[in-house]
Amino acid sequence: MSDIVILGSGIVGLCSAYHLLKSPALPPNSTVTILENSSDGSIASGASSKAGGFIAGARGGWCGEPSTDLARLSWECHLELVNELGGREKWGWRECGAVGLRVGGGGQSRSAYRDLPKGKKEVSDRDWLNGEREDLTNGAGGVAAAIGQIDPEQFCRTLHAHLSKDQRFKTIFGSTKSLSPATASPSSPRTLTFVKLGEKSTTTIRFNTLIIAAGPWSADVCSQLNLPKLNLVNLPGTSLLIRPALHTVGFMSDELLPSSAVFAGIGDAVSGVHAATSGTGRQLTEEEIAMGCTAAPELFPRTNGLVYIAGENSTPTVAADHLPQRLPNRLPDNVVQVKQLVDPLLVQRLTASAAAVSSALDVSKGAVIEKEQFCYRPKTHDGEAIIGELTKGTFVATGHGPWGITLAPGTGKIVAELVLTPGKPLSADISGLGLSRFASKL
Ligand SMILES: Cc1cc2nc3c(=O)[nH]c(=O)nc-3n(C[C@H](O)[C@H](O)[C@H](O)COP(=O)(O)OP(=O)(O)OC[C@H]3O[C@@H](n4cnc5c(N)ncnc54)[C@H](O)[C@@H]3O)c2cc1C
Repeated sequence: MSDIVILGSGIVGLCSAYHLLKSPALPPNSTVTILENSSDGSIASGASSKAGGFIAGARGGWCGEPSTDLARLSWECHLELVNELGGREKWGWRECGAVGLRVGGGGQSRSAYRDLPKGKKEVSDRDWLNGEREDLTNGAGGVAAAIGQIDPEQFCRTLHAHLSKDQRFKTIFGSTKSLSPATASPSSPRTLTFVKLGEKSTTTIRFNTLIIAAGPWSADVCSQLNLPKLNLVNLPGTSLLIRPALHTVGFMSDELLPSSAVFAGIGDAVSGVHAATSGTGRQLTEEEIAMGCTAAPELFPRTNGLVYIAGENSTPTVAADHLPQRLPNRLPDNVVQVKQLVDPLLVQRLTASAAAVSSALDVSKGAVIEKEQFCYRPKTHDGEAIIGELTKGTFVATGHGPWGITLAPGTGKIVAELVLTPGKPLSADISGLGLSRFASKL
């Protein structure tokens, strides 16, 4: 028997629970419990529900080299989940292409990905975008290019509902207080003390293995539980879901926009995921304020007819009023407070970019903003995830930065292998993602 507690119900925690419960190596009578500290009893309500949902496989150099093999495994795991749980209907899975878009500006490189090996081809999608386009799908497209998209909130909800049917799985809402002892011994279980949501007194849970998957809060959790320091920062992100005004681009009201992801550069900005997600949270510069819109927006048309737009990664100005002592680069205590930091100025910048990219997304022409969202990505100093054993019996899986939705299913599988079959070969080479690269800083 082995009792496992996972801290965090984001996509990484959920995928870890899924693979632990699926593994034949999980001893009989074991339990897997997710402890989530959202103060409104919601699961996955941080970045895992607010992300774009762009999925990039191993081909095309989207993720960094140390994550390439994990991206390959994750793509396979995404496909398995799609087939097992009906991902096409439940979370809008589809293979798609990707285009780089230059809107205005001086003619230099349109996209950080323009030098991808082999292949630019003309994009045949019906025209709904302003500006000059180039294909980023590496000459292939769809499954061959290993690029896809999902609605990440629906993915997390469906996976959680699936897990909840398993009697070995439990979700508890509450805030951690202490851990005893910090290091596991094979003979005696450990105890985590926490306060259940809605209660005042503490409760304990006994377990053998702890997995920290608390996203950007993982460093705070380690420090609270007297575990080794985790070297983690975060990057804020504002995003919108827009109902397009289809008639402005000649589409019928029941038609869907082409599925390709769009990485745009407005003016002289270079587009691309890495351009949009480098660095950590900071206020807007004078130049950005003068520009008045998000320079490198990313857009993902979804199967539910909405278009997701993000790329505005500056720190909300409203944050200073709400949480002066904890920002710019510290986090609010709880994911629910994060939701309250949606900044009208940053929403306005994305709204302006959306209109520049397509008249279908222009609110003055009938597009409707259906959701304004804000969240933080967990991020390491070298931009790659951290996956490994922190101390005996305590594992960590976080820091996926711009690629957590892409890499979570493979990460969950690797976590299950590290926990249940230690010493055996792993399904992907994660040698560049281990804790040892931060050893001197831990
Ligand atoms: C704007 C934006 C767009 C993005 N787009 C994409 C994309 O298109 N493709 C892609 O691959 N990735 C994308 N990402 C990245 C991706 O969203 C993240 O890497 C991923 O969601 C991180 O998941 P997580 O489970 O590690 O963390 P989170 O989603 O943050 O989940 C952590 C959970 O832990 C909980 N928690 C915190 N503290 C505690 C505690 N003490 N005890 C218990 N629980 C706790 C939190 O409440 C939260 O529910 C995007 C990110 C942003 C911000």
